[in-house]
This record gives sequence, C-alpha cells and structure tokens, in this order.
Amino acid sequence: NNTYDVIIIGGGPIGIACGLEAQKKNLSYLILEKGCLVNSLYYYPTNMTFFSTSEKLELDNIPFISNNPKPRKAEALEYYRRIATSNEININLFEKVTRVSSHNGLHTLNTTQGEYTAKNVVVATGFYDIPNYLNIPGEDLPKVAHYYGDPHYYATLKTIVVGASNSAVDAALEIFRKGGDVTMIVRKKEIGPRVKYWVRPDIDNRIKEGSIKAYFNANLKEIKEKEVIIETVEGEKTLENDFVLSLTGYRPNFEFLKKMGINLSEDGRKIPQYDEATMETNVEGIYLAGVICGGVETHKWFIENSRVHAKMIMEDIAE
Ligand code: FAD
Repeated sequence: NNTYDVIIIGGGPIGIACGLEAQKKNLSYLILEKGCLVNSLYYYPTNMTFFSTSEKLELDNIPFISNNPKPRKAEALEYYRRIATSNEININLFEKVTRVSSHNGLHTLNTTQGEYTAKNVVVATGFYDIPNYLNIPGEDLPKVAHYYGDPHYYATLKTIVVGASNSAVDAALEIFRKGGDVTMIVRKKEIGPRVKYWVRPDIDNRIKEGSIKAYFNANLKEIKEKEVIIETVEGEKTLENDFVLSLTGYRPNFEFLKKMGINLSEDGRKIPQYDEATMETNVEGIYLAGVICGGVETHKWFIENSRVHAKMIMEDIAE
C-alpha cells in the first residue's frame, strides 16, 4: 500500500491538466475517474459545439488543431484522448471515489475497487453528475430525460423542452430541424441571458414564427404517459406529449465535499472554502480544481478559465 504524493479525483479536462502538471513536477500521482476518460464530455450532446475557440481549451500549451472556428465534441474527445495516451497519464477509469478521510496529514480514499493513501488530494469532480430535478409527479417516467444526446430520437414526435439556457435552446433547435414537434416551457419571461449570442436570433425567430412553440412564465406541473400538465399565466393547460427533456442545469455533489470536511458558504451559493492563491481548501492537503469551485454557480468556472488551477496546485504541493 504505497502513498501517493497526490491523488486527483475526476478525469475531466481539469483533472487531466492536474495529472500533466504533477508529472512535470515529478510527483507520484494517480487520477481516479468514475466513468470513461473525460466522462462528462462524453455525455454532452452529440453535435455540441464549444463556445470557446480551440486554443482556449488547450492543456499545458499542447496545440489543439481544429478546422472549425469553434471545435465540436468529437474533436475535443480526440484532443483529450491523445493527451492522455501520448503522455501516458496515470489514470484508473470506472473507479469511483466514495469517501475521503483525513488523519495526521494523510488522506485515505475509498473507491468502488479499493483503498489508497495520499499526502494530497485534488477534487476535480465537475458538476455534470447531478441534474437539477423538477421534483414533480411523473419525473421518473422513462419518457423523461435530464441529458440530451441526439435529435433523431425525437423525430416526428411531440417533445417538451424545459429550460431556456444553452442546453435547452440547442436541443429545441436541433430537434425542430430534424422534424420534431417542440414546445419549450420557460419559467421566466424570456430566453436566458447567457444563450450564445450567435444562437439567440435563431431561437427568437423560430419562436416568433411559431415553428417552435414556447410558454413563458410557465411551469411544468405533472408528467403523464401521453400528456403533460403545465401552469401558464392563462391557467392550467394539458398538452399531448411523447417525450420530456428537462434541461434546467446541473449541480456539483455537495454532500461529497461536506463529508470530507470542506466548508460551503451559507449564502445559498454553496461556494466551497479555498485559498484563491493555492486552491487549498480548509482541509489541509485537499485542493479544488475546475468547475467545482463555483458552488451552485456552475457557469462561473469552465475549461478556459480554470485550467490554470492545475499549475497553482502542483506548485504549492511541490513546495
Ligand atoms: P468535468 O469535465 O465535469 O470532469 C469531472 C469528472 O469527475 C467527470 O469525468 C466525472 O465523471 C468525474 N467524477 C465525478 N465524481 C467522481 C467521483 N466521486 N469519483 C471519481 N470520478 C468522479 N467550457 C469551456 O471552457 N468552453 C466551452 O465552450 C464549454 N462548452 C460547454 C458546453 C456544454 C454543453 C457544457 C455542459 C459545458 C461546457 N463547458 C465549456 C464547461 C466545461 O465542459 C466544464 O467547465 C469542464 O468540463 C470542467 O472540467 P472539469 O474537469 O472541472 O469537470
């Protein structure tokens, strides 16, 4: 049972960046990833295009060549896969960390496969594992999904898309263009303010011309086998329906952080406590990297602006 200098939880882009940096500092390290390599990315929509240009998604200045102004999911998978293989990143896949406990400056990690000890731990678990559930009757029916993959599945059928941010808008437009009958249910009075600026006119015009139906200031109330009940400003309505895509965002696993002793802010934002210069949390030797740092504000940190965490952390550990 050897002790690693550092164990990184999560094999997303930022976990991999941490691995590369640990390697450069000659630290013994292991990445533990509960799914496949860059698991979150793998479950993004098939046709997804990044909002970042490719150089902003690069790790450790390794060139990310793309022929498109903004790379697509398949290209990003290729890029991160090549980084992992050509640098011989030390990573165990399909091994989930279930518990981290700390004693006398050493950390014990229990996983679905075994137990490890490390002097330092980096939590880079992202935010894509837990959807924001609607908590309404019928949400557990098989026709309801909280992740969107491919538009073909919905062709010729009646689909409700809940939400009005990038994921919801992209799904609504794609499904409409592959012959689906789309109705958006939007809680607020308009499409979300963070929708990509080049997508916004498309969705606004499809709604205006009626090719995508939208209810604003509305909520989904109940989902049944063949219909849904919605609450609108004009009262309750029942709509015929085949599928529901609830795309209202995701959140980090806060319980996991709390159980390892990391404090979360109590202002509703649940921002984990960490030192902004080193990324070390209130638990000595446990660091945070990537999108997890934002608490419920999952739009705050992304690949572009959080890849620097890797260097900050490994510099602190190497000292
Ligand atoms: P993740 O990529 O989520 O990686 C976390 C990993 O941890 C996952 O693989 C997960 O399986 C694993 N994990 C979780 N819990 C455990 C556990 N207990 N044990 C072991 N492993 C665990 N960002 C940009 O910079 N530019 C963009 O253009 C962009 N476009 C986006 C488009 C979409 C549709 C989405 C959803 C996100 C986009 N982002 C973009 C955000 C970006 O994808 C995330 O910020 C990025 O994935 C963060 O990387 P990460 O490594 O912190 O987390």
